[in-house]
Amino acid sequence: MSRFMSSNYAGLVPYVPGEQPRDLTDRVKLNTNENPFPPSEKAKRYAAKAAENLQLYSDTECTLLRAKIAELYAIDPDEIMCTNGSDEALDLCFLAFCDEQHPAIFPDITYGFYKVFAEVDRVPYQEIPLKADMTVDLNDYLSAPGKTVFIANPNAPTGIALPKADIIRLLESDPDRIVVVDEAYVDFGGESCVDLIHTYDNLVVTQTCSKSRSLAGARLGFAFASRPLIRDLNTLRNSRNPYNVNTMTMMAGLGAFEDEEYTRDNCRQIRDTRAYLTAALRGMGFTVLDSSANFVFAASDRISGKDLYLQLKARNIFIRHFDTPRLAPYNRITVGTVEQVDRLLCAINQILEATK
Ligand SMILES: *Cc1c(COP(=O)(O)O)cnc(C)c1O
Repeated sequence: MSRFMSSNYAGLVPYVPGEQPRDLTDRVKLNTNENPFPPSEKAKRYAAKAAENLQLYSDTECTLLRAKIAELYAIDPDEIMCTNGSDEALDLCFLAFCDEQHPAIFPDITYGFYKVFAEVDRVPYQEIPLKADMTVDLNDYLSAPGKTVFIANPNAPTGIALPKADIIRLLESDPDRIVVVDEAYVDFGGESCVDLIHTYDNLVVTQTCSKSRSLAGARLGFAFASRPLIRDLNTLRNSRNPYNVNTMTMMAGLGAFEDEEYTRDNCRQIRDTRAYLTAALRGMGFTVLDSSANFVFAASDRISGKDLYLQLKARNIFIRHFDTPRLAPYNRITVGTVEQVDRLLCAINQILEATK
């Protein structure tokens, strides 16, 4: 920290993204939950076409894209806000809906960015331990009225989904507090709560094009909520960066949502490969949590999480390791193509054989 940095940020620990090797020749990258399939042809075509008009500012309202999503989700465009990745939508939720009277609460094991947002946005927060089986204990949240809940559903890095009925209980437990449901992985097997925004004016749902729609590099996310909440979020967005979604990204998103069959098809393949990967790992003695996402969380008592991670990395296979006490035995493995998963399984098999 230089002597010029604001003391407000002394000790701020930024989010640490997974490694992004640029050269993927002969590398298997299963560490950041990207989609193994390319973006839809339509998304690529629309983005290239949009590049021709980049002398103009982007549409701060993302009018075309919101209209398309509103039609698909049977909601109103005024119930949607588009953001630079769903990370931005989540950040705006911390800013808009948390303060001394409404501290943020979220699980101790969840998306690492929640804690970083709470810190950088200088809002009070509390981390609530998951149960021993890595599931959320709903009672911890039901008995914390007034606190703004952030819940990833399915959760990361566990992949475990909460039933929609549990979210409804949470929403009804205190109509005067906000519940933010982060649905980054919902298309891989979770139950979406977007349709509940008409019933519950204290609900915000965030989604992203980064995972199921193969647009991680484009940076496109959304918040869905009742009109008053979207207005609040837009007040903040327009006070910070009204041109948050660039024209190429908005058009790539439009192309992706006009090609829903492609998304559904890719998600189906990923779910099938997830079942295959889960069964194969369990067959090798791994504990694998039941995932509803595009990754699995797995531990073996024959090798530490870190050792497996390092040995796979030495073989050009990247998975994600988290070096905290409860997570250290595990690794988070993105579900790639069948070919990538086969290469991974083959390498794990060799590594385990060598450690006998
Ligand atoms: C990937 C991810 C996000 C957001 O990613 P963006 O690329 O910013 O849309 C949000 N929440 C969770 C749990 C994620 O894993």
